[in-house]
Amino acid sequence: IVLRREGTVEFYAPDPRAYGSIYSAPVFYNPAMEKNRTLSVLFLKAYGATGLTVCEPLSGTGVRGIRYAVETGAVGRLILNDISREAVELIKKNLEVNGVDAEVYNEDANVLLHRLRDKCDVVDIDPFGSPAPFLQAGFRALREEGVICVTATDTAVLVGRYPKKCLRRYGAVMFKTPFYIEAGLRNLTGYVARVAASEDYGFEPLFAYWEGHYFRLCARAVRGARDADSNFNFIGYVEYKKPSRKVVRRPGERSLGPLWVGPMGDPILVNKMAEYGPYGDFLQLLSEEYSVAAPWFFKVPEFALGGVSRGIEEALNALKKGGIYAVRTHMAPDGFKTEVSAGEVERVLRIVI
Ligand code: SAM
Repeated sequence: IVLRREGTVEFYAPDPRAYGSIYSAPVFYNPAMEKNRTLSVLFLKAYGATGLTVCEPLSGTGVRGIRYAVETGAVGRLILNDISREAVELIKKNLEVNGVDAEVYNEDANVLLHRLRDKCDVVDIDPFGSPAPFLQAGFRALREEGVICVTATDTAVLVGRYPKKCLRRYGAVMFKTPFYIEAGLRNLTGYVARVAASEDYGFEPLFAYWEGHYFRLCARAVRGARDADSNFNFIGYVEYKKPSRKVVRRPGERSLGPLWVGPMGDPILVNKMAEYGPYGDFLQLLSEEYSVAAPWFFKVPEFALGGVSRGIEEALNALKKGGIYAVRTHMAPDGFKTEVSAGEVERVLRIVI
């Protein structure tokens, strides 16, 4: 156990050098999730509410919840939990180190969430792998209106690298496309939106992104059958016929989905997050992406001529010159998002060499 620092908190976590892998440590702590935690802190701060009841039912060392309490000024009641006894001991120690008050439980996350029915403003589900087993209970723990945040590290499943498992876990048909990362994020979002609907919650993504080994989604949920019905206005399928993409209402031979085909985040909220400090450029990019409605991106090499592809800068300049609005995407260094068709992109990139 070593003392570590993240944001403005200090906390104890297993020394990664003492164990072969983070998965062999007695309590789980992944330093590679620092960006996830920091962005989540910024999100809660920008969300703008105070006195919130925040539940993190899969707490590990407790660092995430403790950072929420110390760094956001948004938390009124903090509820931490882990199924591991060692984790709970460490959470208590870390709360003490930071002078933070919280209720700490040692239960199965689903049992706790059901006991907290109607009590939470924010539920943050940060599991190993898929959040699917905890979603229904997560919504049940929310009040009339709340925020649900989920991390999914089963990215390979979500993007469709294991099609059968993807169908089993998420009820979606996925195959590889140039924009498979966005498709994976929208697969996760569509799934959460459908669980929200089944629990009579309307659903609105506020902040969603991908980083290498995980997807992250924070969404507002409002109880009401009518709102819940509206979720399906944004559930659709994406038909991919190289290189064209199209949103279709019904599944077909060449379509992915069901996917969330609506907005992935709130550009205003994300701009506000950017004002608070780190990851400003990343957040700026996300807010630009959220303003493009097309639920996919293109990759410059898709429009290579005679096997020669240009760089992203050159392609963006050419598109701009051709009068086409396009922005980069955080999901691929050679990717861009635009609302025009593949055919139009092709025409412009072919002419303006
Ligand atoms: N949220 C933490 C953070 O940001 O550092 C990391 C959480 S870690 C990915 C997942 C945690 O969930 C582990 O500590 C594990 O012991 C716990 N866990 C796994 N299954 C659980 C269950 N059914 N109920 C409660 N906790 C569980």
